[in-house]
Amino acid sequence: MSTAGFNAQNGTGQPYANGPSQNSLGVQHLPATNYGMTHQHNYNPMQGKAPAPPGPGLYHSGPYQHAPPVGSYQPGPPPTSYPAPPGQPHHTRPPLGGPLPHTPPQSVSPVPKLPAAQGTPPPPVASSSGYYPNPQQPWQYNSAPPPIGPPSSMNAPPLGPATNHVSQPAPYSSAAPSVSFNAGQPPTSLQGYGPPGAAPPPLNPAASQQYHPSRASYGTPPVGPPPTVKPGAPPMSNATVLPPKADGAVGTNHVDNKAAGPPKPGPPGHHLGHYPSLPPGYQHPAAPHGGPPTSHQAIQNATQPYTQTPRPYQQPPSGPGPAQLSPSMAAMSLQSSTPESLRVVNLLQERNLLPTGPVAAPTPCLPQDLQKMNCNPEVFRCTLTSIPQTQSLLNKAKMPLGLLLHPFKDLSQLPVVTSSTIVRCRSCRTYINPFVSFLDQRRWKCNLCYRVNDVPEEFMYNPVSRSYGEPHKRPEVQNATIEFIAPSEYMLRPPQPAVYLFVLDVSHNAVETGYLKVFCQSVLDNISALPGDARTKIGFITFDSTIHFYNLQEGLSQPQMLIVSDIEDIFLPTPDSLLVNLNESKELVQDLLKSLPTLFEKTMETQSALGSALQAAFKLLSPTGGRLSVFQTQLPNLGVGALQSREDPNQRASAKDVQHLSPATDFYKKLALDCSGQQVAVDLFLLSSQYCDLASLGCISRYSAGGIYYFPSYHHQHNPAQVERFQKDLKRYLTRKIGFEAVMRIRCTKGLSIHTFHGNFFVRSTDLLSLPNVNPDAGFAVQMSIEENLDDMQVVSFQAALLYTSSKGERRIRVHTLCLPVVHSLSDIFAGADVQAMTGLLACMAVDRSVTASLSDARDAMTNAAIDSLSSYRQSVLTIQQPGLLAPACLRLFPLYILALLKQKAFRTGTSTRLDDRVASMCQLKYQPLAYAMMMIHPVLYRVDDLTDEGALNVNERTVPQPRVQQLSAEKLSKDGAFLMDAGTIMYLWIGCNCNPNFLTQVLGVPNFAAVPENLYMLPELDTAESQRTRAFVGWLREQRPFFASLQVFREDSQTRVSMMQNMIEDRTESALSYYEFLLHLQQQISK
Ligand SMILES: [Zn+2]
Repeated sequence: MSTAGFNAQNGTGQPYANGPSQNSLGVQHLPATNYGMTHQHNYNPMQGKAPAPPGPGLYHSGPYQHAPPVGSYQPGPPPTSYPAPPGQPHHTRPPLGGPLPHTPPQSVSPVPKLPAAQGTPPPPVASSSGYYPNPQQPWQYNSAPPPIGPPSSMNAPPLGPATNHVSQPAPYSSAAPSVSFNAGQPPTSLQGYGPPGAAPPPLNPAASQQYHPSRASYGTPPVGPPPTVKPGAPPMSNATVLPPKADGAVGTNHVDNKAAGPPKPGPPGHHLGHYPSLPPGYQHPAAPHGGPPTSHQAIQNATQPYTQTPRPYQQPPSGPGPAQLSPSMAAMSLQSSTPESLRVVNLLQERNLLPTGPVAAPTPCLPQDLQKMNCNPEVFRCTLTSIPQTQSLLNKAKMPLGLLLHPFKDLSQLPVVTSSTIVRCRSCRTYINPFVSFLDQRRWKCNLCYRVNDVPEEFMYNPVSRSYGEPHKRPEVQNATIEFIAPSEYMLRPPQPAVYLFVLDVSHNAVETGYLKVFCQSVLDNISALPGDARTKIGFITFDSTIHFYNLQEGLSQPQMLIVSDIEDIFLPTPDSLLVNLNESKELVQDLLKSLPTLFEKTMETQSALGSALQAAFKLLSPTGGRLSVFQTQLPNLGVGALQSREDPNQRASAKDVQHLSPATDFYKKLALDCSGQQVAVDLFLLSSQYCDLASLGCISRYSAGGIYYFPSYHHQHNPAQVERFQKDLKRYLTRKIGFEAVMRIRCTKGLSIHTFHGNFFVRSTDLLSLPNVNPDAGFAVQMSIEENLDDMQVVSFQAALLYTSSKGERRIRVHTLCLPVVHSLSDIFAGADVQAMTGLLACMAVDRSVTASLSDARDAMTNAAIDSLSSYRQSVLTIQQPGLLAPACLRLFPLYILALLKQKAFRTGTSTRLDDRVASMCQLKYQPLAYAMMMIHPVLYRVDDLTDEGALNVNERTVPQPRVQQLSAEKLSKDGAFLMDAGTIMYLWIGCNCNPNFLTQVLGVPNFAAVPENLYMLPELDTAESQRTRAFVGWLREQRPFFASLQVFREDSQTRVSMMQNMIEDRTESALSYYEFLLHLQQQISK
């Protein structure tokens, strides 16, 4: 099979020996580089595994049998069994294309020349698509733009192939050299996702009281020379000791030192007195929010939902800044009255906790004019919307602190500015934002490091009002989310073109699934909608036991297939003609896509050399960077990266720990890091009914900032719902926005520090993520700790800056800034808890914990998170002790969400779960933005047989009914109704046996219950009011997410109900507690 080096299947059969001299690329590939964690056991220390404590799944609740009958919806046998592998390999392949061009491999050039079009790379100026139809003139008010800092910007990333950052010793979760905060904690505690090798978890899940901050307590001076800044010094003095950022920090200047003046911490706002009096326009009137608010901000949430809709730039005459907020902030005491979010709820008594509609993000307790400008929580939010003043206070609250980001989210309104000067702090490189303060017209104070900076002359002109002298009215200071078109100093090389390479499994197994036809048709349909410009390049590789390249060079009469069968030492046959300009070779590309599905129709080749195909693709993309899309349908079993099945189907329902959650080889991770170094991201589409070892394969996407798209049991005939989902998701994938050669940096106010990132990326330095591609559907999370007391601060800020190359070749920077208040009482911390954000962050932490320790460890840690926070609340916040399981209203859903996490495919035990399904669920929890992760964690149930227009929304002239949200319990499914469960990627429509006949006829178009067909995946388009209402509702739900949700309509006696019932979080199953039992378990642990 692999004896022929290089041959063609078109009859000419010209073989080439694949000697070393012809494979110069090969020798430099996959060196034994040490990435800091070369071997998988470095990031997967299973050896530290502790005896698993009894999980809540084994808890027997005794007399409490609140849940509905168990037998009615017990999960059945595994839904899909793996088919036997098809027959023996048989090497036949139809010819494709004309004669093989006799380009000897010697002509392979490691760096193919760029097309001519690439020679003129300067980005189009002023093509802003945002608010400013023609922003160029106004922005160039000043003839000579003032100099700005070094081009470092966001640590201007090494973009060129020459700069390889793989030697960075900080991959993934090890990005926290400064984390000391969990070292002494029991690993099963909430924040205790300690370093590998940490102490084994205590057997008793309740042993969570020991939150010992492991760093020295504040106020105790360290041994040695006195610190330059004493604890408790006024915040501005921090600027004098701030270590300069690596990215172009500039030395301390004298203005900064002056700013450090105040000798003692005064009440908020007193610092202002040390600055020269402000001109009237800069005086911040205390009046707008001077009066004591009558209620907590959370109360106002209901009436004033946060929106980041466009607003005029005309703000009140003074630009607010934290320094000027003091009077109102001081007045915002929570002590005077109990806010709604702190209302005491006895969870054991209140059964109906769910709001009737979506759960809204809490609004930070900030003065309204500040909050009005704050970042949209869909883009940027924090688990605690009130930041504790100290780490010890945070430890006392026992809630996780972290940020959740959706930085590249599709936004309907995005201000875009073109400016020759992007104004940033000279010390910490923070971008100017709405939460800085202007000391006067010429100086602004950074809200992250407190350095005082000059306002550049250009910034004095406001292009919106076309007036001079109002820097605080510039869009940069009026929008928490903004995008800059970057000037040339943000580039180390010309922005790369959009480059797309598709790598397709064409083995017998792949052909059997029928995915190739859908793929080819989808690319054909969307080829003109691929994001890009005249420079866009495209290429295709197919593989089974050999690697097939396609010469698509302009001028050929048809595509040519080139086969390389020496998979051990892969090389590129004709490097210059495999990735081609899409416009120039469009017809050849279309020809190829039309012929591919039939080309391999009769193949009997069962082997899969995925590793070699990926190596080939990496070589092809290395010179430019770009997006690599891999479609795989089976376990790779040949050549480098070959894997063996590690799943024991008999263990799928085990209540014991799950093995093989970590990769079997470091091949995919190493290759991913190589890809990341060359600005290549790998997206993995896994379409399979067999075990593919996603735990190993997924590394290729995880470390290269790609995505994982999982279509289990994909089959073109047997699984039409999955086929529809693949079609829709592929269309989105091909046409959505994309950013290339990106980096993201997250900064926060001095005193806070971020560590432990979650998502798909490579951590290049402590706060810099390498993202070869960024897409609008990717989410990220980071954990945070409080390194220094924040007691002089009223507010703190967080800024995420994403530098990327657009598909049109523009270098752009998207900046999000979030501002949050600092509080000093536990009750204020609790009042600001964001239960969904906490759940999302915990899910990410638990995934890491499952891999680095064990699944039972992770499950205990999640349970403990609920116990910890509620017991802290009981001990430290509640003044009157009452019986019951008490929670503040803002945390009332926390135990429910934790239970929901325990019942996720990612974390459940005792229910048959295929290993790949479990790993895919883990990947989703880590990679999805919070909003979509929550759809999966806690699905939403509606009754839909009685939809009315009462309270309906009007969306694009459609009336969309808004039925109330039901609890996730089989109790709610009354047999005379129809119920829709929205679980993110899938919706279930359950039809009761006595369902309202009107619904059956008017919506489903069937005469009676028995006539509801078995496999119904869509609602018929009937011309009835009921049908229109139902379809409008389902359509509206689908519009809330970027991925497709398939619909399964079924009778209550159908097998499909098993999948749906697994989402009934509140119900008891053989292996998991009911919600009520779980509450009792928590109560028992808390009262210990
Ligand atoms: Zn700064």
